[in-house]
Amino acid sequence: MDKLFVQFMGRIEEAKLLSNGFSHVYKECKNAGDFYWVDFKKDGVEEAALPITKGTIYVSTFFPSHVFQAFLWAESYPDLKVVVGGPAVKYHLRGYPSPPKNVIIKSGLAEKEIFNKERENKDWGIEVPEGIGEKICVSFVINRQCYWKKCLYCGERYKGRKGEYNFDNSVAYLKLPENSRKRWRVWLSTPCIRRNFLVNELPKLRRDIVYNYTAFMRADKAVINALKVSLKQCSEEIGDKSLPFTFFVGVEFPSERMLKIIQKGITSDNVLKLAELLTFYKCDFHFSFILGWNILTRTDVKEVRKFAEKLKRIAREKLVVHINPLVYGPLAPFKTRAMIVNKSKIGVVVGYELGPYKYLTRIPILSKEQRELNREVRDIYVENFEPWTSKRRQSILEAMLGDE
Ligand code: SF4
Repeated sequence: MDKLFVQFMGRIEEAKLLSNGFSHVYKECKNAGDFYWVDFKKDGVEEAALPITKGTIYVSTFFPSHVFQAFLWAESYPDLKVVVGGPAVKYHLRGYPSPPKNVIIKSGLAEKEIFNKERENKDWGIEVPEGIGEKICVSFVINRQCYWKKCLYCGERYKGRKGEYNFDNSVAYLKLPENSRKRWRVWLSTPCIRRNFLVNELPKLRRDIVYNYTAFMRADKAVINALKVSLKQCSEEIGDKSLPFTFFVGVEFPSERMLKIIQKGITSDNVLKLAELLTFYKCDFHFSFILGWNILTRTDVKEVRKFAEKLKRIAREKLVVHINPLVYGPLAPFKTRAMIVNKSKIGVVVGYELGPYKYLTRIPILSKEQRELNREVRDIYVENFEPWTSKRRQSILEAMLGDE
């Protein structure tokens, strides 16, 4: 055994989260080496031992800590070639520590990058690790580019129009085991699900062993119309039960003026209509809002209040609200999101430790008046929705909105 395909696992809610980065090249990997799962705390980097000390490991990374863990292995095993890819390598590319000499960074770990050839077989596959409990969460890539690409703060707008993964992968390739005793949650991986997928593929998804499908979605008119048709069809097939879908939607800032400035391509009315539809079909949904704007007006704040009151009346128990800081965007190259949208200067660096490494974020400097307006908006979300936020995001928000 001199070739290992390393993937990490963690937790999401009550399920074991498998960051199954090699599933789209499952057969090729299986023929070339062995899979190796590492049980991992999301923010932990440790001296985890590997079963080989020479040869090559391909490490699929999803969180920054995965990248730093790969660096640690490279230091501990100097005779090992450590090839690191996956969505988290962009954190390394932001100027964090230089990798050890035996590390090769790849933008992805697709077939061409590992095997130097096009994929022959599109089937998805996985070897589930032993002894991890009944519920598992895995991902299946639908496509890797946003069809909208216009939001001012988002790195998707810098990606080319045509890309290798700019297609809708058919669910026919999602080869889940026939008689699995596990209960699966499947993350349909895409920056935002497209109307074609909603209409043509959603009703075909297997539901026998899958308890939930999750995806990012835009609240635009085309999506809402497609979803109406699709959810009706799904609902007729499974009867009067909650549909097993969870959708994550970026609302960002629900005033018409701000939605136009950031070129979101939606209105707050669209968002409320989407909330009505998802509530009607008892789907779970997560709405995300951004704070850290340097251009708010009092009218914006009034609009947020009205929007929040309406949303609260509509959404009831199926909605989870998230608040995110407008900071150094993992996808926004060269400039920060705040610089692009607000023309803000970028100030203090806040960070946290990842083993011997530090994960750092720069935050925008807001005027006193703007900090107050942002805090008012935050308070509206808190009063109405008890938003969820991680400790890291919370500390960034406090640094950004706190008093001097
Ligand atoms: S924020 Fe979402 S909708 Fe906007 S460009 Fe980025 S991925 Fe697309």
